Amino acid sequence: MPHNANNPSRKTWLEISEQTDFPIQNIPFGVFITKDYIVTIGTRIGDYVIDLGALHQLGYFDGIDLSDAVFLQDSLNDFISEGKKTWRLVRNRISDIFEINNPRLQENSKHKAASIFKIEDVEMQLPVDIGDYTDFYASKEHATNVGSLFRDPKNALLPNWLHLPVGYHGRSSSIICSGTPVIRPKGQSKPNESGVPGFGPSKLLDFELEMAFITTDANALGTPVPIEEAEDYIFGLVLFNDWSARDIQAWEYVPLGPFLGKSFASTISPWIVTLDALEPFRVEGPNQEPQPLPYLQHGENKSFDINLQVAIKPENQDETVVCNSNFKYMYWSMAQQLAHHTVNGCNIRSGDMMGSGTISGPTKDAYGSMLELSWRGQHPLKLNDGSERKFIKDHDTVIMRAYAQKNGVRIGFGECSGKVLPAL
Ligand code: MN
Repeated sequence: MPHNANNPSRKTWLEISEQTDFPIQNIPFGVFITKDYIVTIGTRIGDYVIDLGALHQLGYFDGIDLSDAVFLQDSLNDFISEGKKTWRLVRNRISDIFEINNPRLQENSKHKAASIFKIEDVEMQLPVDIGDYTDFYASKEHATNVGSLFRDPKNALLPNWLHLPVGYHGRSSSIICSGTPVIRPKGQSKPNESGVPGFGPSKLLDFELEMAFITTDANALGTPVPIEEAEDYIFGLVLFNDWSARDIQAWEYVPLGPFLGKSFASTISPWIVTLDALEPFRVEGPNQEPQPLPYLQHGENKSFDINLQVAIKPENQDETVVCNSNFKYMYWSMAQQLAHHTVNGCNIRSGDMMGSGTISGPTKDAYGSMLELSWRGQHPLKLNDGSERKFIKDHDTVIMRAYAQKNGVRIGFGECSGKVLPAL
């Protein structure tokens, strides 16, 4: 099936900025509440959000096999369950409806009033009801930096790291939508000489620059997903801030891995950008040496060239960009992650979320956490307002952005932001 929606020469009849993250070639999916408290599934073009439930009721998706209520939901799970063929038909149809030479909706002011809103007039919600959330550890630069900081620079990578995408099962109940404040967590920290653990608000609150992919129902329990099929089950991607309390994490993580240092909050961006929309931005991933086992070997270009950025905005001050990285630095591809996740027969469901792990690049300005950027506090960062940061302070807002750009088309993710509030 052709990706009509990806045609770089397409233009829309909606008035949008040239610099927008959401040109007609993007067509992401999200969930929003209107001023009249109607919850619906929508897409976004420029600074307009489009109510897909309303368009469906008005007959704009006629000819596509969809249930009447598929968009009148507070999550995308049912739509995602329909599978890749339906996602493509719907995305292509939306592109056709808003294509500059199509008069059908363009010249129907009643239908436009019922289905098109300004972004500032709606409130974005979590786009999916996330059943299970897994976080990987798939950036070699990040794993090497953390291994050097916490263990030994000569043996920074543990013996398994180059053979499998290391991951852990995270907590889905505390995944929140961009814009939701984050309360500084309290917890235990390493004991001093007295042997009594510390307790109180985390002193080493950090962000982790990640992306996450959302899956559809992939496999029956007991049946692995072959690697060459894995991408068929990836609906799309969001930006992801895996907030981390390093002091809590450092004390609790042995031997079972991350727990309360991670589970207090995880922020995602509200628009799921489809894997289809990212198709033009495929690139070859890092060379993998040693060669992975056969079940993790795949064809070319399973990585994606997506620019990533993190900014810190102190209260009432301008933001400072502290990191520029790229999704293509990730050592283990999403296909490898999904193949590995299911190789034991674990079943993947619609609305599951898989985090990439912190995406650090090869240079010091491309490190995806404060732990690495400040080298565990040894080299504080200077912000534009003159203040310094080793970690994140109360009232700071952390803003992540991502976009891919090629042949004059920019496919962006909008923002993934969260403001830190003092501990209770
Ligand atoms: Mn993480």
